[in-house]
Amino acid sequence: MPEVGGGSSAEPMIELRDVVKHYRTRGRGVVHAIDGVSLTVGHGEILGLVGESGCGKSTTARLLTALEQPTSGRITVAGRDVAGARGSGLRELRRTVQMVFQDPYASLDPRQRIGDAIGEVLRVHGLAGGKEDVRREVTRLLELVGLLPGIADRFPHQLSGGQRQRVGIARALAVRPQVLVLDEPVSALDVSVRAEIINLLARLRDELTLTYVFISHDLAMVRHLADRVAVMYLGQVVEEGPWEAVSDSATHPYTEALQAAVPVADPELERSRRTGSVRGEVPDAARPPAGCRFNPRCPLAEDVCREVAPELLPLGAAHRYACHVRQRERAGAPSGRGVS
Ligand code: ADP
Ligand code: MG
Repeated sequence: MPEVGGGSSAEPMIELRDVVKHYRTRGRGVVHAIDGVSLTVGHGEILGLVGESGCGKSTTARLLTALEQPTSGRITVAGRDVAGARGSGLRELRRTVQMVFQDPYASLDPRQRIGDAIGEVLRVHGLAGGKEDVRREVTRLLELVGLLPGIADRFPHQLSGGQRQRVGIARALAVRPQVLVLDEPVSALDVSVRAEIINLLARLRDELTLTYVFISHDLAMVRHLADRVAVMYLGQVVEEGPWEAVSDSATHPYTEALQAAVPVADPELERSRRTGSVRGEVPDAARPPAGCRFNPRCPLAEDVCREVAPELLPLGAAHRYACHVRQRERAGAPSGRGVS
């Protein structure tokens, strides 16, 4: 985490306390999208939020950006209570924290020129007055994300995927936010373009002292950007800590499984590693397993794992994980099984 000037408080930029989000559905019953998540993100820090599809990452993103309200728990962003925000407070919050989506195409009007799409954001938030004002600011924003001013006259379909995602980022930056919540921002892009966008995000974080929550289903994707990583499984954080700590030490078996799923150059080898790493699929969040939610897929599972939910316990200063077996091993108690 970089040193952040300004001497602002030691208060985190983002704080989630025991956040729960349940969806009451007709066919499926109560979906436990988020079940007791507590997280903090410091000023200027990048938190990578990872986990397979269906683990509650996008729900977390919608809660952080006040697009939805939690069922219970507390969320603060830049010292503001997200759940309690209404009216002007909510508008200000929406300026403070902006979302970048996987597919910027979906949020762009195909008949609207890029310059107008960005200009619209400026006008809605009263951030630019006359036509000249808007044009100048649009040019500044395009340059900020590495695009030429001429892009302003183009339509979305005339842009490459990478250019469109740059426009998506420019639109988010138009309101001069402090926090970006990026939901799979490079997952839809060609591999060759991903690194460019990651590099752009890294530069923008430094230049503008932004705080990011960077969401990905792929642990490898957050490697080059995140200061800290939180691994989610079925609506809960199962491991959290500085990137090096989470990637280096054998802690939560789900994190290990995600690491084993990191794509390798050989597609044959990749397939074998994938299938060998995590068995089966994420269970339905409407019927989360008892005990540790990962137990039906876990190679280490024991009786206790099927009965008792493990706590997220600290390992060192900033690293926490929730696994009965690994916690006992660390504590030095005899282990009754072998690691396969
Ligand atoms: P992720 O982004 O990690 O793939 P999501 O946050 O999208 O996960 O979804 C978490 C769980 O919540 C899934 O089981 C999903 O089907 C469910 N879910 C998400 N949004 C809704 C909704 N509006 N209504 C009902 N269930 C939902
Ligand atoms: Mg998602």
